[in-house]
Amino acid sequence: MESGLSLALSAEHERAETADRRVGSVTGNVRTVLAIDVIDALRGVDDPEYPGVSVVDMGMIASAEVADRRATVELITTFSGCPAHDVITTDIVAAVGALDGIDHVEVRRSTERWDTARLSDHARAVMTREFTVSVALPGKPTECPRCGAAALVEQSPFGPARCRAVHRCGACGEVVEVLRS
Ligand SMILES: [Zn+2]
Repeated sequence: MESGLSLALSAEHERAETADRRVGSVTGNVRTVLAIDVIDALRGVDDPEYPGVSVVDMGMIASAEVADRRATVELITTFSGCPAHDVITTDIVAAVGALDGIDHVEVRRSTERWDTARLSDHARAVMTREFTVSVALPGKPTECPRCGAAALVEQSPFGPARCRAVHRCGACGEVVEVLRS
């Protein structure tokens, strides 16, 4: 008896859900869900310079929208001319385009300016721990990722990537890349 009741309830629930979905696609409810799905997909797209740090953690996503099975992602570029951006754009199109219900993906460049304050705590932690990259924050001394001393001295404004400068720690001597704000 009880299982019969729960079966009936679940069938009822399923019908209600189907109806919701149908209404949603008309009213735009589904768009909200899909925008979240797009963000979830973007969490799987890493910055090629920092494997393990997604473009979401990098603070590079200004917005994600879905309308009529088309996804539009606004990307904040960390540094103009950074060659990683072409790779990132290709990866975003692949990841979002793989979502059920998305037929087309457009990646636009946002006019918003990226700065290091947009990085998530996770991104900051991974950079310090895995890449010996310190993050410069406006108005704050940059700390050495090895010893923690705020004693970094700039050696060269151009590191291996345009967005990073090479510093040396005056306390421990470690060569540190600093992600500029
Ligand atoms: Zn140090």
